[in-house]
Amino acid sequence: MKSQIRTIHQQLVNKEITCTSLVQEKLSLLKENTNNTVNSLLDTLALELAAKVDAKIAKGETLGLLEGIPFGIKDVYMLQGTYTTASSNLLKNYKSAYTATAIQKLLDAGAIPLVKENCDSFGHGSSSENTIFGAVKNAINPDLVGGGSSGGSAVNVAKDYTVFSIGGDTGGSVRQPAGYNHVYGLKPTYGRISRYGLMAYASSTDCVGPIAKSVEDIRIILNVMSGKDTKDQTTYASEEIKEENISNANGIKTIGYFKNFIESDAINSKIKSDFLASIEKVKAKGFKVKELDFFKSDILVSTYYTLAMAETASNLSRLDGSNYGNRIEDKNLKESYAITRSENFSEETKRRIVGGNQVLSQGFSDEIYLKGLALRDAISENFENDFKEVDIILSPVTPSTPPKIGDSLKDPHAMYLSDAYTVGFSLGQLPTLTIPQGTETGLQITASKNNDELVLKFANFLKDTI
Ligand code: GLN
Repeated sequence: MKSQIRTIHQQLVNKEITCTSLVQEKLSLLKENTNNTVNSLLDTLALELAAKVDAKIAKGETLGLLEGIPFGIKDVYMLQGTYTTASSNLLKNYKSAYTATAIQKLLDAGAIPLVKENCDSFGHGSSSENTIFGAVKNAINPDLVGGGSSGGSAVNVAKDYTVFSIGGDTGGSVRQPAGYNHVYGLKPTYGRISRYGLMAYASSTDCVGPIAKSVEDIRIILNVMSGKDTKDQTTYASEEIKEENISNANGIKTIGYFKNFIESDAINSKIKSDFLASIEKVKAKGFKVKELDFFKSDILVSTYYTLAMAETASNLSRLDGSNYGNRIEDKNLKESYAITRSENFSEETKRRIVGGNQVLSQGFSDEIYLKGLALRDAISENFENDFKEVDIILSPVTPSTPPKIGDSLKDPHAMYLSDAYTVGFSLGQLPTLTIPQGTETGLQITASKNNDELVLKFANFLKDTI
């Protein structure tokens, strides 16, 4: 199976390249890049680790598959001693006191972190323009946005500045930028990978997600990061996904798609026709295809934003300049909190904090927050029933193509609606993978909870079919 990780591993083992030269090459590409993907470079650490890998190779010791493989980290993950800014003014000078579990597992496997990557501040956005480090530019057309919120991570992979990157997906932030930049991006089943050390946006849907250039690389990284973690009580133990188990589509019989996603007025006509053409190709291979009913996308978007805003308002309340963040002093403690937060949070983040506190406030919470929770249960039930009838759900990643830089900032509501096809699967906590095929912004493959293996299996099949 095609794998960038395996190719580089072989080159290292065969001494065709040294790890130091590989890391140096990627670091200079990152340094010189004009797509604004870098918040901070981890050059000293990366070169130190590369030298150790080279020493191991020189001694003829066996090299693990991920040893010496350079990767990027969205700037919302703790990596002890490095800046973790969440692309925000508030945490511009914040240094991680500890390392996130998912990142630690990659370090233990020998992968080399190169960069903390640009993203929408605190994960708030769909374009990676809501950042103090400058808008991330799309890898294919730099006049367009890189997608978000993990825009820097997807662009780095697409441009080969990193071999893989670790993004974070709360409502689509790995899948949508992967689609906008023509690479693979996985949101695993919620709880498969520990969130410990991932800065919390909306805790009930936050997922650690790998971005890479092949299904095989996604499989390798997913296996390394997965597992139960006592520091995140929502994690569960999962089995390793074996390469041979995903090499064909055996056992997958019925594919479903949501009729109303495709019949919506909001979908770009080319994305629609390309999606339907992909469905025909799947049918031609002998799969049964079933049209499914689902909630209207504006209901999905409003349910997601109601809950995400409530959770982020609560999670960000700790950022008041006392324990974390750039503190601005004023005449008393209350005023100091107020000025610290109003000066240091972005407009988009403040919009969400205000919205979230409204949703949670006395007199409104029953009508808004509890209704949101009830709708979420109904959405999950809908999925459960769907997966009694189909093995896989296929959907476009986005209703439209990436906007020009500047457009999303002018119209936040339009930006929220552009998440129409990703947020439902987040609310359902389902494994969903973006593949760079089928439509201009890719396709999403979704399976039932804990069935991440099936998603990768079907992705492998589609890569030779579409
Ligand atoms: N665009 C969505 C939002 O702004 C999703 C972001 C994410 O997954 N972090 O909430």
